[in-house]
Amino acid sequence: MGLQGGASGEDCDSSAAGGDDLLLRLRSFKSDYFPLHQQRFQDLVAEGQHPTTLFIGCSDSRLLPYLLTGAGPGELFLVRNVGAFVPPYDGSYGHHGTAAAIEFAVLSLQVGHIIVCGHSHCGAIKALYEEVPAEANNLRRWLDLGRDAALPVVPTPDALRRTEQRAVVLQLERLMDYPMVRRRVVAGQISLHGWHCVIEDGEVHVFDVQSGRFVAASVATHSGTGPYHPYVEHDGQVLSDENP
Ligand SMILES: [Zn+2]
Repeated sequence: MGLQGGASGEDCDSSAAGGDDLLLRLRSFKSDYFPLHQQRFQDLVAEGQHPTTLFIGCSDSRLLPYLLTGAGPGELFLVRNVGAFVPPYDGSYGHHGTAAAIEFAVLSLQVGHIIVCGHSHCGAIKALYEEVPAEANNLRRWLDLGRDAALPVVPTPDALRRTEQRAVVLQLERLMDYPMVRRRVVAGQISLHGWHCVIEDGEVHVFDVQSGRFVAASVATHSGTGPYHPYVEHDGQVLSDENP
């Protein structure tokens, strides 16, 4: 897909786009998608956004948060990075957009759900077992956020799958170091969801705190309740687990 300009900007028919595929897609959004959802967008502008879910996902182009969750405009507060990693709350990783997004989503938007979503064939997880190019200073340091998930084994497909899942749990644990997250999870106001999307199967596996395993969404009894169990509701009632 070419990024170079080619259109005059005066003519909206595709012949004037000069093979600029991105420009054509921008025009399609306006002409095809937007009219169907115009009122929703305008309501979201008038009333402000009130998303209920913070979605922290890997940047991988094959991971499609809106399609996975069936979400439309205004529903997901979305942050993506290499590996779906959560930097530490203490700021030791410098200025980081993911940390800022977590604080904003929890304190200002008051989301009720935080999803951490990794996936199969994740390049970030694979890179934990490989040399990173010397020039990639930032990437090498960033990958440190997943290192505790790596296994002392040869990275077979099975080991990589397990590492991908372990990395998701590791990020959930790091999320709990954010005081505003921990308070709300303990109070039952936020639920944490650890997901692993198997791209080739179209199946998301959700982390089950009780069993410590990832369970396919097609047979799971919940979309995630991690990392702490049992949950205590506002009135002190302990929620029972749905699993036998
Ligand atoms: Zn990835």
